[in-house]
Amino acid sequence: MVELAVLGSTGSVGSQTLDVVRKFPSDVEVKALLARRASDKLLKQVAEFKPEVVATYEEPASDWLSALPEGTKHLLGDEGLHACVELADRVMNAVSGVHGIKPAHLTLTKGKTLLASNKESIICLGELVKKNRHRIIPVDSEHNALFQLLENVKREEVRFIYLTASGGPFKDKTLEEMRNATVEEALRHPRWSMGAKITIDSATMMNKGFETLEAVNLFDLELDTVKVVIHPQSVVHGVVELRDGSFLMHASQTDMRVPIMHALFYPERKEFPFGRVSLPELSPVSFEEVDTEKFPALYLARWAGEMGGVYVPVLVGADEEAVSLFLEGKIGFLDIVELIEKTLSEVSIEDPEDIEGILDAIEWAREKVREIYEREYAGTR
Ligand code: MG
Repeated sequence: MVELAVLGSTGSVGSQTLDVVRKFPSDVEVKALLARRASDKLLKQVAEFKPEVVATYEEPASDWLSALPEGTKHLLGDEGLHACVELADRVMNAVSGVHGIKPAHLTLTKGKTLLASNKESIICLGELVKKNRHRIIPVDSEHNALFQLLENVKREEVRFIYLTASGGPFKDKTLEEMRNATVEEALRHPRWSMGAKITIDSATMMNKGFETLEAVNLFDLELDTVKVVIHPQSVVHGVVELRDGSFLMHASQTDMRVPIMHALFYPERKEFPFGRVSLPELSPVSFEEVDTEKFPALYLARWAGEMGGVYVPVLVGADEEAVSLFLEGKIGFLDIVELIEKTLSEVSIEDPEDIEGILDAIEWAREKVREIYEREYAGTR
């Protein structure tokens, strides 16, 4: 029996995790749920799964609290987070963005198994991740695929690994069209339905930049070993190129519940309960080079990874803030990566030594983005 905590349970991956869990009532017990807001959706999840603890960061209204089933306790903030992690043996970290860093840190320091969906934490907690690799099962589709492929090969046999990218909504658009893109256009991802932050990251391809750094930490690879390739169908999720000329590929239907289910039960494999697709249905499969001129985020993320230290959390914090400025309609689409680059070029703080230092660097980057915005962009749109 898997004793599970779902952190970020009302988000996209959190809800899909519960979709899977619902199909395996005798194999998984939901011990705890955590979400930022005390929403109706969370209340419904609590009523259905009856966890021991439900945690929120927002103080719930009294009628929300009185609607909780008997046996479910509500806890607020970090106290709630601690209780969630404590109760579970597997922790699904589906919290979105930089708020996922603390939950991942806590899960690993408490010796629990991390089902890693949040990528900001895997990037920023490099040392901790490297030390605890054996207790991390990646949920991000590309890394889950690579995890499965790399299990069967020796590291010295690997020439390259490839992260596949759909290319997002702007793959075939010109730079001019990207400059004028609206929030709605950027949110229209051709393949995956995801939360707003990660959908914008996919459109800039910062998502793939993050995933590059994620792969380095998860699989102990050199940055130069990790490549990105455009694969518009999002059917092949990871590729390993071996020195002997073989390419090993992992394919599945474009459904996050495939990697979620794998991580939930690893090393056991269960029958996928949402319908099988046949191999011809996954056709065609094609690969293309990335146009790095159009997607400088990829280069920027690599550069930050090479610099290491404080540059990684600054990259992550600057992206978080720049994406929210774009979603607020305050900057243009191409300004997102431009603002991140400017922030990276103004770094004036020390390398962090612990999680507090990492969170401080992220906060510094967010403030820096706002400062540069006020200085150079405010009122231009
Ligand atoms: Mg991914």
